[in-house]
Amino acid sequence: MATKAVEQEEDRLFKSLTELADAHCHLDLIQDFSLIKKAISSGVQTIITDGVDTSSNMKALELADNKNIFAALGMDPEHIIKLPKSELEKTIEFNIGLMHQNTNRIIGIGEVGLDYKDDKWKGVASLQKKVLKRLIGTAMELDLPISVHSRNSLPDIFDILNEMNARRVHLHYFEGDEKEARLAVERGYMISVPPIESSKRKRVIAVTPINNLMAESDSPAVGKSPSDVETSARLIALIKGITFEEAAMELTRNTKEFFGIEKKKRSSLIRI
Ligand SMILES: [Zn+2]
Repeated sequence: MATKAVEQEEDRLFKSLTELADAHCHLDLIQDFSLIKKAISSGVQTIITDGVDTSSNMKALELADNKNIFAALGMDPEHIIKLPKSELEKTIEFNIGLMHQNTNRIIGIGEVGLDYKDDKWKGVASLQKKVLKRLIGTAMELDLPISVHSRNSLPDIFDILNEMNARRVHLHYFEGDEKEARLAVERGYMISVPPIESSKRKRVIAVTPINNLMAESDSPAVGKSPSDVETSARLIALIKGITFEEAAMELTRNTKEFFGIEKKKRSSLIRI
């Protein structure tokens, strides 16, 4: 078969698959790249990979093709806490510089946030908050959305976002209750659902309009690869009483709109 015919056939097969989007994962940590390729060819055509420190930010920039893989650059609390004091300021400066230099190549700032995993981590809450505020400030300055990590820290996250008047907010791996989900919706934030079922999560999905929902794999920490967003989308479909295809379509559209994916695709084509 001529190359063109093969391409057309591949195109046809591709289009018949249900399209999905992964709103949050860490591709730099997935050792087996064939898993990423497989996710894309089986329908997860939009993947947001989030950086958490200097090396993963560099890797995210390398992996992003702005066709299927899109990069967000961030600094997550875990890595900030673990940095030696003498390295802290220059590491933050370097990564904020990276965000400024690559504004046109990235789709967001993330992962950022607060993590009160235990008393030790909560004990350095003021350091975490200080860095988070700088990163939110950077995102607002660059007019980019943020992906926020909020383990055991949602009340403080809500306060900071409100204080800073941040508008383009994605609460990744949302662990709040229905009341917190309603507050997020009231403020126009997006909530994403990882591929793990819990009764609390089901209640949150039930009270959150589908327009405020996205699916994420958080792979390889939670899901194995971006393919696992299918589980999140199936859970949402079940709770919302819609078909998997309908849920996939809505969630994909939400993710693309929130992160400005189509615009990024077009601008990267023009650049080439
Ligand atoms: Zn993550």
